[in-house]
Amino acid sequence: MKVHEYQGRELLASFGIPVPAGEVITDAGRAAEAYGAVTGAAGTDLAVVKAQVHAGGRGKAGFVKLVRSAGEATEAAGFMLSNRMVSVQTGPEGLDVGTLLVAAGVDIAKEYYLAITTDRDTRRNVMIASAEGGVEIEQVAESNPDAIKKLPIDPESGLDEAEARAFADAVGFTGSQVEQAAKIMVALAKLYVERDCSLAEINPLIVTPGDEVLAIDAKFNFDDNGLFRQPEIAALDDGTDTDPAEKRAEEHGLSYIKLDGNIGCLVNGAGLAMATMDTIKHFGGEPANFLDVGGSASEEAVTEAFSIILSDPHVNGILVNIFGGIMDCGVIAAGVVNAAKNFENADGSTGFKVPLVVRLEGNNVEGGKKTLEAAHDSLPTLQAADDLSDGAKKIVAAVG
Ligand code: GDP
Ligand code: MN
Repeated sequence: MKVHEYQGRELLASFGIPVPAGEVITDAGRAAEAYGAVTGAAGTDLAVVKAQVHAGGRGKAGFVKLVRSAGEATEAAGFMLSNRMVSVQTGPEGLDVGTLLVAAGVDIAKEYYLAITTDRDTRRNVMIASAEGGVEIEQVAESNPDAIKKLPIDPESGLDEAEARAFADAVGFTGSQVEQAAKIMVALAKLYVERDCSLAEINPLIVTPGDEVLAIDAKFNFDDNGLFRQPEIAALDDGTDTDPAEKRAEEHGLSYIKLDGNIGCLVNGAGLAMATMDTIKHFGGEPANFLDVGGSASEEAVTEAFSIILSDPHVNGILVNIFGGIMDCGVIAAGVVNAAKNFENADGSTGFKVPLVVRLEGNNVEGGKKTLEAAHDSLPTLQAADDLSDGAKKIVAAVG
C-alpha cells in the first residue's frame, strides 16, 4: 500500500523528522487561505503547491510549483486540479489530480537522497543515501553509481547514532548537518520497522543556506501483509492507489494481479498459478495476470474471474488450469462451460469470443474432458488440453 506525500510527511513528523508545515486542499478556492497560513507561520513568502498523486516525477511535469503570492498559489492550484498529470512514471494517459498540498517553501543549498528498503540479497533493511538528490535515483544509479552509498542495518540492534553519524559524514553532510542528518536516519530506521514499510524515501532531504536539514518530499510503501497490525496506516488508504480490477477481485475473495501480457490465466492455487505463468512464458507467451480463484473453482467464481480478466483490454485469450483434487472435474467443466456460454460481452452479446483453453486434472478428469468437448458447438473458441504444456502451447498458438 502507498500513501500520499502529505500523509508521509505527517508520518515523518510524528517520528521527529523536521518537515515544513503544509495544508491539504481539494479546491483552488482554498489555495489563497492555505498559502497565507503556511507562509505566515514560517515567516516567508515562499510556498510550494504539490499534486498529491501516487506517482513521482511531479517536479518535471509541472505539478510541483513554487509560488510567492496568494494569487500565484491559486493559479497553480487551478492548473493542477484541472489538468491530468503526465510524468515519466504515469504513462501517456496521466493521472487525475484531486488533492493538493500547499507547503511552506524553503531555500535549498543542497539536495540529498535518503531511503530505506529491504534488500533480499543481504537479508537486511538497507539505508541508501546520495549527495545527488532531487533527481530520480535510477538516473544516478546509471550515470554515477559511486555517488550512491548503502548501509545495511542490523536487524537485532537497529541503526545506532554513531553508525548513522559515520554514514552521514560519508554521504557528504558537514559540520552541524551531520548530527541532524544522523538523527533523521535513526528516526527513519525506527519508523521503517515499526510501521512495516517496504520503502521509505525522502527525496530530497535538503540542507538550507542556514544549515538546517529538512525533509521536503516523502514516499512510502507498506507491506500489505502487515496492514492487519497497522490500523493507523491502513486508515490512510483513500482507494486512489488500487487498480479497480484488483479491488473487485479482493471483494470476491480472488487474488488477482495484473501483468503486461495478453494471455489471461484462471487457476486454482497460487503455486499452480505460478507454474501456469512459467509454462506460458516457456512456450513464448506472456501472461496478462496472476489469478487464483482459490479452492472452490465454482461457476460463480469462474464467472467473476472471466469478467475481471477480460476487463483488461490487452487480453486476447484465456488459459484455465484447474486441479480438481477431490472436486469432480465434470462439475468444474460444466461450471466453466456455463460461465463461458453466459458471459456478457462489453457489446451486450453473450458467449465467450476469445480463445479459451481449458486444462483440468484430478478426480473424473475424463468426464470433465467429455463435457468440454460436448460444448464445442456452442463455444467454438473452446479447446480442451491434455496437460499443462499442451494447454500453454494451444493458448500461445491461438493468440498468435
Ligand atoms: P517529485 O518531483 O515528485 O519528486 O517532487 P518533489 O517534492 O521532490 O519536488 C521536486 C523538486 O522541486 C525538488 O527536488 C526541489 O528541487 C523542488 N522543490 C520542492 N519543494 C521546494 C521548496 O520548498 N523550495 C525549493 N526551492 N524547491 C523546492
Ligand atoms: Mn521527490
